[in-house]
Amino acid sequence: MMLAEMGIAPLWRLRAPPHAGPIDLPQPGAVESRIEPSAVISPASAIAPARRAPTAVEPDAHGATRPRVPPPLPEDSLVQRAGERRAARAGAAGAGGPPAAVAAMEAGEAQARRQRIMQMGWAELKPAVARCVACGLHLARTQTVFGVGDENADWLFVGEGPGAEEDARGEPFVGQAGRLLDSMLAAIELRRGENVYIANVVKCRPPNNRNPDSGEMSCCEPYLARQIELIGPRLIIALGRVAANHLLQTDASIASLRGRVHQYRSAPLIVTYHPAYLLRSLQEKGKAWVDLCFARSTMDALREGRVTGL
Ligand code: SF4
Repeated sequence: MMLAEMGIAPLWRLRAPPHAGPIDLPQPGAVESRIEPSAVISPASAIAPARRAPTAVEPDAHGATRPRVPPPLPEDSLVQRAGERRAARAGAAGAGGPPAAVAAMEAGEAQARRQRIMQMGWAELKPAVARCVACGLHLARTQTVFGVGDENADWLFVGEGPGAEEDARGEPFVGQAGRLLDSMLAAIELRRGENVYIANVVKCRPPNNRNPDSGEMSCCEPYLARQIELIGPRLIIALGRVAANHLLQTDASIASLRGRVHQYRSAPLIVTYHPAYLLRSLQEKGKAWVDLCFARSTMDALREGRVTGL
């Protein structure tokens, strides 16, 4: 039924791989992941340590061990601090400060901002995003689109940015593309909000649904990085080239990134097409279904401790 909704039921019968035997997953660069049916390597030792390292640990609702969220810091008035920094920068420029000094000041500010964000818990992170004016995308937004779902999810789906409906409703992946994503989730027995979290690289809608530029994505990056750290997902699915390129820091084509397990920090990451692209390119739905089957089998392997090399 769900395959029919995705429009790929006939393709599935013809093309979906069984993933029954060992899966050898060559990696770009030096990192290689291998899934073997008989290997007994606990996910706790293969994957979780890097997630746990910064803080004390506690088991979550899914039985995994995740970093304990640190207590909220005192209210972080990001907007006020940004204004103070802009004033200081204007003062440096007005005083004839050299461009290199201004650039160094901005780099230092960005680093300090990132460090503050990376210490936030959920309760502090959400309002910080809601009032963020750190890049120009805030000018045209109706509201920020933070992310939605199970904050202890095993599955994290990441798109590039909100569209018009998301901007209006404040939730990622609603509208036609969102309904297709829901069908894709259902096809591998997942549901929005149940062991699934959905987020975007940027939290504000780029005007006219253009792709976010590199400056906007790097400005918003600490929010997604902190979300990922707090969630501690077992597997990240990058939806579309923009999200995949941002998370993997590459400019490789989506075709070359599909079908392999990559890494975002300590988390395995798989790439597939963005649902909005699939709505325009119906012939690619079969490939997306293959990717979802690959993601499902990879998650099974991760749970059974059959993944090495991560
Ligand atoms: Fe802030 Fe991100 Fe929105 Fe830019 S896109 S204003 S960094 S929340």
